[in-house]
Amino acid sequence: MAQTERTYRPSRLLRMTLMGGQARVFLCDTAQMAQRAREIHHASDTCTAALGRMISAAAIMGANLKGEDDRVTATINGGGPAGTLCAVARANGAVKVTLDEPEVELPLKPNGKLDVGGALGRDGQLTVMRSYGFGEPYVGRVALVSGEIAEDFAMYYLESEQTPSLCALGALVGEEVISCGGLLIQAMPGCSEELLSALEVRAELFGAISQLLCENTLEELARGCFDGLQPEVLEELPLRLACDCSRETIEGVLLSMGEKELLDIAKTQGGCEVSCHFCRERYAFSAEELLRLIERAKEGTGGA
Ligand SMILES: [Zn+2]
Repeated sequence: MAQTERTYRPSRLLRMTLMGGQARVFLCDTAQMAQRAREIHHASDTCTAALGRMISAAAIMGANLKGEDDRVTATINGGGPAGTLCAVARANGAVKVTLDEPEVELPLKPNGKLDVGGALGRDGQLTVMRSYGFGEPYVGRVALVSGEIAEDFAMYYLESEQTPSLCALGALVGEEVISCGGLLIQAMPGCSEELLSALEVRAELFGAISQLLCENTLEELARGCFDGLQPEVLEELPLRLACDCSRETIEGVLLSMGEKELLDIAKTQGGCEVSCHFCRERYAFSAEELLRLIERAKEGTGGA
């Protein structure tokens, strides 16, 4: 697929509060990242929407991380034809995303929208794992609501984190990604009924997030969507689609297959090529390199 000619706004996220902290808001524009993911994964329109929505959801979760080594991994496993969708976000705004079968395409739904729920399936779970560079990771799981991603994340926040949340994720996809972004509003303890009902009234407007992002910048949305609710931008976080794989991480994956399997590949196939699921970068290993890898691993475990 040719690289896009369109110029995109740099992907960004705004962290905000409403009414002096009664609710917190995350608002992001991720069209440029979604287009990049479409190109990397040769994704269909429906799968591009799935990737784009997941990028936004992951970026919002990543914005809550603090440490350099912290990361959040979100996985949707719904049993649909597109397979498993997974994204990893870090505190620095880097997000990577992958989907098992990104070329799967489905007919539009009767309402004219891309059938993301049909592609991902609804019979499974959303799993969120937060790891902090030390200690055991924190894992939360909820049954999927619709496989449309936004509803599934709203359920996750409610069930797993006991935080009532309004989540909107959207991507408009044509020949290229036209717009993509997300919005998460969370009521804080002590949030007033007035604010809750004001947000409820605007829920339908928020649902049109991809349309809104076509016509407005994040700052215009921050002011326009929350007019009268004392919106205050606390922080702006630049976002980017970036993978942190390396030859070392791929060597680790190879070693996890076991010595016998690696020896077999070295002997019968004369080496192998492994591609990273997230960025599709290819790493080639000759038979000799595989044998050296096995030797090194043996020395490593012997010396430990
Ligand atoms: Zn990679």
